[in-house]
Amino acid sequence: MHPKMKNIDKIRVEWDRRCHRCGRCCYEKIDFEGRIYYTDIPCEHLDLKTNLCRVYPERDKVRPGCIRLTPDSVAKGFLPADCPYVADLDDYPAPSMTDEESDSCNS
Ligand code: SF4
Repeated sequence: MHPKMKNIDKIRVEWDRRCHRCGRCCYEKIDFEGRIYYTDIPCEHLDLKTNLCRVYPERDKVRPGCIRLTPDSVAKGFLPADCPYVADLDDYPAPSMTDEESDSCNS
């Protein structure tokens, strides 16, 4: 394997490790006038016991609307404010929650 590819794999692993698998981002959201609101409706592929996606490797095919987490996409405001991907972003436009109890992704 080319040394640069090893580096890319390492970066990818570190990026994925930020997620602590609360599953909160896998709930349906509503974009109302440019503001994102969470609902209490989970994606049909979210395992509610483990908070893990049941189709993760092929989620793009199985669920075309699923957004991949990238440095650009996470800044768009669909992750909870305390999600490790966005917690340190200045002026992050956190979505509004329909249930303040489920606001945290540390549960
Ligand atoms: S909200 Fe953040 S920490 Fe929680 S599952 Fe989604 S990406 Fe992972």
